[in-house]
Amino acid sequence: MNKYYDVIIVGGGPAALSAAIYTCRALLKTVIFEKKYLGGQLTGTELIENYPGFPEVISGVDLTQRMEAQAKRFGLEIRYEEVLKIQLEGDLKIVTTDSDTYASYVVILASGADPQKLGVSGEEEFYGKGVSYCATCDGAFYRGKNVVVVGGGDSAVTEAIFLTKFVRSVQIIHRRSEFKAAKIYLDELYKNLKIKTLFHTVIEGIFGKEKVEGVVTQNILTKEKKDIPCDGVFIFVGSTPNTNFLGNLLCVDAGCHIETDIHMETAIKGMYAIGDVRKGSYRQIATGVGEGVTAAIAAEHKLAELKALGKVKK
Ligand SMILES: Cc1cc2nc3c(=O)[nH]c(=O)nc-3n(C[C@H](O)[C@H](O)[C@H](O)COP(=O)(O)OP(=O)(O)OC[C@H]3O[C@@H](n4cnc5c(N)ncnc54)[C@H](O)[C@@H]3O)c2cc1C
Repeated sequence: MNKYYDVIIVGGGPAALSAAIYTCRALLKTVIFEKKYLGGQLTGTELIENYPGFPEVISGVDLTQRMEAQAKRFGLEIRYEEVLKIQLEGDLKIVTTDSDTYASYVVILASGADPQKLGVSGEEEFYGKGVSYCATCDGAFYRGKNVVVVGGGDSAVTEAIFLTKFVRSVQIIHRRSEFKAAKIYLDELYKNLKIKTLFHTVIEGIFGKEKVEGVVTQNILTKEKKDIPCDGVFIFVGSTPNTNFLGNLLCVDAGCHIETDIHMETAIKGMYAIGDVRKGSYRQIATGVGEGVTAAIAAEHKLAELKALGKVKK
């Protein structure tokens, strides 16, 4: 017999936690399945300046702990299991994890996204030996060292600024002629004497012996190649949605973003998608949190509807 929940949430990032606060508070028996650590991408974010209600900077870890405590106060169950598969039996969804099988009429997909790779030589080989996708996690290992940051959005710029707490120098390498990051971050970046910028440039490879010793760059205008010696490479070039476990249930391609209506409901009734995994999401904590609330309220209505029709007996 599969263990039954009113609501199953896949993923434990901020979108999931906010949905769980609402479903638990509505007295719906809710479980979150998280394959790694609660907080998702928040855990790798040191400086959060744009989440409403925190005029001072809050770290991702702090924010996660607050959301977790709030959801647990209303009875949230968290299981550290990876969701491997979801199957449909009429309105019922059967969720298979690496440990067990569960059932629910409502599944909220909040599996977020993973950092996008550059796909260059040395990137995989030196992962954890100089290549990183998380300044908060690894920055302190680079005290007094020289590092390269790749990317041009908010993440690249804020994480570069954060790294200057530890490192001797940061070289930001960006393929375009200007950064996409918000002006407030750029003002801070250009004031920081430890940071240098290199535009119109891509990384062609990462080299070293035991660990990273440098990167090979190419100027995309002049085609000139140059080796830049460095001790670490921090990559912030976007993210890929985690949808492989869905097979072809909602996605045609692996790694697709999931389409929803305005209630966050997908093409499958009773299945919702929120946060970074959702097509059209603005990929911010606040938008993910808002989408979580919308899905939770819609899910509550859906369960009431199914109960009224006599489809849900529990
Ligand atoms: C470096 C960096 C800095 C950022 N700074 C900011 C900022 O300042 N302000 C802001 O608003 N946003 C910021 N963001 C973006 C923000 O972190 C994301 O928009 C937000 O975390 C998305 O939340 P989510 O819940 O949708 O997904 P995620 O945070 O990606 O969480 C998804 C979770 O699902 C889990 N999961 C995936 N697949 C499975 C599976 N099969 N089974 C079980 N669990 C699974 C993952 O392990 C993960 O924990 C930043 C992002 C990064 C990377």
